[in-house]
Amino acid sequence: MDLRICHLYPDLMCIYGDRGNVITLAQRARWRGIGVETRDLEAGETLDPDWADLYFFGGGQDQGQDVVSTDLQSANGNALRQAFAGGAAALSVCGGYQLLGHEYVPAEGPAIPGLGAMDVTTRAGKVRFVGNLLAAAPQGTLIGFENHSGYTYLGPKARPLATVLVGHGNNGEDKTEGALQGRLVGTYCHGSVLPKNPWLADMLLAWALERRHGTVPLEPLDDSDELAAQRAAAEVARTRP
Ligand code: GLN
Repeated sequence: MDLRICHLYPDLMCIYGDRGNVITLAQRARWRGIGVETRDLEAGETLDPDWADLYFFGGGQDQGQDVVSTDLQSANGNALRQAFAGGAAALSVCGGYQLLGHEYVPAEGPAIPGLGAMDVTTRAGKVRFVGNLLAAAPQGTLIGFENHSGYTYLGPKARPLATVLVGHGNNGEDKTEGALQGRLVGTYCHGSVLPKNPWLADMLLAWALERRHGTVPLEPLDDSDELAAQRAAAEVARTRP
């Protein structure tokens, strides 16, 4: 059994340790004896919609999002939609999350079109949200670090990933953090998010493996270190002024 991961636009969309999510997904698969191949896709390269089981789309600056948006308005956007329709899973963080939605309207300049794969819409807010982000998901605690000026609002086809306990999350108004739609996950948690939130990593792995291998029961791992790190980070977040 093998797992194929595509890291989308790492040169432009991979800030605040987001690459650690790809490392975590690969390592948690390898610990279970699953072979892993990871490929990067940069703007201007050709995305093969049939190859990857799992996509990672990290955060980036507005200008990088502009370049990536243009690439997503080309054949690569259709290929990525085709990949999702074919059962591929995705984790998107912050800027990547915004670009899987309908559009991101920055503080200055025209709207940046998104892929429209997630029913979310983002517009720049007056205050940049920066700091530890602690939220409660049905599957467990979600802890990370947020740094965004985009405020994201969910449409009816998306549901929140978690409820904000400390920090701002999607928009600082409705207490939602992130979004779930099919096998697509969006979150504002940088950090990287997956090492300290093993439930999220394994949820994505299970979805990704199902694409070509059917249901794969994941052997439990000893997550004592990961959960100790999650508790410690959550404790720090609770002291957030
Ligand atoms: N440029 C976007 C914003 O500020 C995304 C930032 C990010 O990916 N951290 O909201």
